[in-house]
Amino acid sequence: MERKVGVNNVKIAVVGGGLVGALNACFFAKRGFQVELYESREDIRRATVVKGRSINLALSHRGREALKAVGMEDKIVSKGIPMHARMIHSPSGKRSPIPYGKKGQYILSVDRANLNKELLSAAETYPSAKMNFEHKLVDWNLESGSMTFLRNDGSTKVTTCDLTVGCDGAFSAVRKHFMRQSRFNYSQTYIPHGYMELTIPPKHGDFAMEPNFLHIWPRNTFMMIALPNLDMTFTCTLFMPFEDFEKITTGDEVLEFFQRYFPDSIPLFGEEALKQDYFRLPAQAMVSVKCSPYHIGTACVLMGDAAHAVVPFYGQGMNAGFEDCIVFDELLDQYNCDFSICLPEFTRLRVPDDHAIADLAMYNYIEMRAHVNSKWFLFRKHLDMI
Ligand code: FAD
Repeated sequence: MERKVGVNNVKIAVVGGGLVGALNACFFAKRGFQVELYESREDIRRATVVKGRSINLALSHRGREALKAVGMEDKIVSKGIPMHARMIHSPSGKRSPIPYGKKGQYILSVDRANLNKELLSAAETYPSAKMNFEHKLVDWNLESGSMTFLRNDGSTKVTTCDLTVGCDGAFSAVRKHFMRQSRFNYSQTYIPHGYMELTIPPKHGDFAMEPNFLHIWPRNTFMMIALPNLDMTFTCTLFMPFEDFEKITTGDEVLEFFQRYFPDSIPLFGEEALKQDYFRLPAQAMVSVKCSPYHIGTACVLMGDAAHAVVPFYGQGMNAGFEDCIVFDELLDQYNCDFSICLPEFTRLRVPDDHAIADLAMYNYIEMRAHVNSKWFLFRKHLDMI
């Protein structure tokens, strides 16, 4: 294990044990800091039901680089499914691939719960890291630096640290305390669309569609996508305005809607399964959060969705959060772990990049559901001409 002089007595509290918090715990512990991770949920490695935002995620280059830095890339990539291209499904059921890049380039479909579990287990292998599950941050006194965590049994733990790293997601409790700071900028935007996850089961023991693609059914004002899973299922995500979700109230209306817009998907879901799956959970909201700065003095820094929740259409929310971790790690190297330089530098470097990702994600919201249709149309026209 790598240890650097002078860091062993520095206590870091990572608030949030999701994807970014768990990875950050690895980075800090690898350096020899005393790391305490506090997660409000139970330990997902022991949970029977894992609640999460999406079942699978697209992992790309920037996320892989961060995993590589803590020796986790191979483990995660070996359980991912390469997706070399988008596969566009037209309303008539015609499928047309649009590659992501050059030959051999791909993004990976990875299981969110497995990734989170692996990162927590990796963090736990460092003797200087301690995991505290069922510890929800409920109060944080900036002046004294004391943080109060509520446990599931109703008891509380009050503690202090040298640096608080807020990785507690889009509705960050840590970020709430930034709101009272002078010159802290903050904006949040809910888009009118919600999302719902549906499952395509395996067919005759195999994937029901080509597995090495991110399948997209673009329908202008709404769309459906599907990413493959290792168990040969696909997780489909239907993105649609909330008001349209609300119009569909019966199983027959679900079938009618899919018949009209996604007819080729019905045999893949199975009629009865689709009717039930659709009403399993209500559509979920999507929020985009921008803020600046990401730090307060030398006391606290925000990373991941706590700093920049983005809409999921660019597939970069987690990847950008992972990149936060590696950028901060590089700054610690560069400035010999001097927080008085690393924290403002982190804000200076990351705010423009993360805000750009947020804008690109918002743009891709239209690109994926609408422009991709017209590109395909232009491409067909081009083919017809040659
Ligand atoms: P989270 O995953 O939200 O984790 C925050 C953690 O903090 C949680 O475990 C929570 O329990 C804990 N917590 C919250 N409050 C407290 C508290 N008060 N005290 C202690 N703990 C607390 N990104 C990609 O890169 N690729 C994709 O393909 C992709 N697809 C997506 C699809 C959908 C439908 C959605 C919604 C998002 C998608 N994302 C994707 C974005 C990605 O999910 C997020 O960017 C990522 O989960 C952010 O990780 P995080 O650790 O910052 O936050």
